[in-house]
Order: sequence, then structure tokens, then C-alpha cells
Amino acid sequence: MANPVLSQERFHNEEAAFAYVEAELWPNGPVCPHCGNADGARIGRLQGRRSKPSKVHPEGVVQIGLRKCYECRQQFSVRKGTIFEDSHLPLRLWLQAIYLLCSSKKGISTRQLQRILGCGMKTAWHLGHRIRHAMAPGSTGPLGGAGKVVEADETELARSRKTRKPEGFRRKTHNPVVMSLVERGGNIRSQTLDHRGAMSVVRRNVHPDSTLATDQAQHYKFPPVADHQTVDHSKFEWTRGIAHTNTLEGFFSVLKRGLVGVYQHVDKKHLDRYLAEFDFRQNTRVALGIDDVERTRRAVRGMAGKRLTYRDSYAP
Ligand SMILES: [Zn+2]
Repeated sequence: MANPVLSQERFHNEEAAFAYVEAELWPNGPVCPHCGNADGARIGRLQGRRSKPSKVHPEGVVQIGLRKCYECRQQFSVRKGTIFEDSHLPLRLWLQAIYLLCSSKKGISTRQLQRILGCGMKTAWHLGHRIRHAMAPGSTGPLGGAGKVVEADETELARSRKTRKPEGFRRKTHNPVVMSLVERGGNIRSQTLDHRGAMSVVRRNVHPDSTLATDQAQHYKFPPVADHQTVDHSKFEWTRGIAHTNTLEGFFSVLKRGLVGVYQHVDKKHLDRYLAEFDFRQNTRVALGIDDVERTRRAVRGMAGKRLTYRDSYAP
């Protein structure tokens, strides 16, 4: 049976796709990205062609959603200044890709994206990474605060010992370590742990008035917070009142199944983007009353102001 959401107009019809994105990014009508003019009466809709007929395009290039600002006399569309800019991919395929990434709990591999969208490998790869980039929160304040509990824990991303090793495989000395913080009842924030260590992550991300809940690892001694609660995993103690890291244990299990099962060869330098993707889904999860359609809508809103060109991304 066809997916009732994916069979909707905006995933197949370019004009409907533009209408959908415009409604999300311009809730009060179009805004000129060149001069900031938001007066609807001073912005016109251009019908038809962006360029004159040429040898390559005998009909001329037809661009949907093209506007003209009568203040600064320039043209623009809703793609301008977003991660959709500089992409030749139709907006309806972008929307399909965003929906797929938003509705799959453990993510979508580049290969699968390529198969579903019928595009090239490189396009699918870049598409996935631009969407992950847009899922990352912008500037964010500290987690927690007075009377709030923040869990901190980390996990090592290691290949399973049961996985067959490729020929010439040499054991890496350092597997990447992911550290996550979650405000109980609030948002999660994950990052790869670098040489600065766990305490530095706590200092940069947790409000000093919070209660921190961790296991008894040495590096959590004397954290810069008001209160510190620990559980001793070595004594099989997992929960004692508010002291537990169960929220993160659950998140790590989804993350690991995703990174191992779907993203088999995640390069260390791209890991933070994948973490942004898993954080985004966790922060917009079903338990908060957010469904796939609403989650997709929030991702689309995140596309604004996050332009990312191929050069300043990271070729595969
Ligand atoms: Zn303008």
C-alpha cells in the first residue's frame, strides 16, 4: 500500500512543493532576501521564464515560485538563502528526502535515498548531509537550571566483534566516543567527545544550578553544578530516585542500532551531523505529540538561513 503521506501533492508536484515551503518559511507572505522588503503589494509574482530560449533549453528555463521585488528590482524565490539554494534538485524531491529522514527512526542510508529518489549517489549523499545540517539547532542556551535534572553519559562507537573484518583491517586505537546530555523532560544534545573531555562538555552546556545525574565514572567527579547524583553501575545499581541515566541508555541504543545498521561507514569527521539528526528526531519524538508530518514541517523551517555549499561541506 502506498504511503498516504508520501502520495500527497507536494511530494510530486513542483508548484505544490513551492506552496508548502513558502507557507512554512514565509508565514506572513513573501520577504525579499535582498533588501528585506516584506510588503506584499511591492512584491510581484513572475510567471514563466527565468532565461530566454537557448540552444540547450529551447523553451527557456521555467522557474516556479519566482518573485520580483519592486523596491530593489531584484528577483528571488523561497529557495534563496536556504539550504535549497544552489541545488538543481526539484523541491518536491527535497521534500521527499526530508520526510524520509524525519520518519525513519534510525535514519536512511545514502544508498536507500538514492534508490527511492532515483538520483545519483553523490546527490543523495550531499542531500542527506544538507538535511542533517539543517536539523542541527542554531545557537542554544544551556540545558537544565534550578530544580532541573540533566543526565550525562557517554558511549563508545565500536564495531561489533562479530562483524567480519575487511582484508587488511587494523584495529583502530581510538573508537569515537559520543557524549550526550539530556535535560529530563526536555532536549537532548550529543557530540563527539574530544581531547577536552567530559567536564568541558558539561561546563559549556549545563546550567550551573542544575542537578547532574551520571554514573560513577572518574571524569564526573566535582562537576561545576549545584548538585550531583550518581548511580554505581559496578554494583548493579541503575536507578536510585532521580539518580539514573536511563533516558540516555534508551537514546544510545537507538543511536547505535542506527549508526551500525543504517550508516555502516560513518566517517569520524561527519559524525556530529549524524548526531544532530538523531538528536533532532529524539527532540521531536512521538511521545511529545509530534508526528512524522509535524516533524518534517519543523525540519523544513530549519532550512532557512542554513545555506551550505558543496565547497564548505565535505566531499565524500
Ligand atoms: Zn528587495
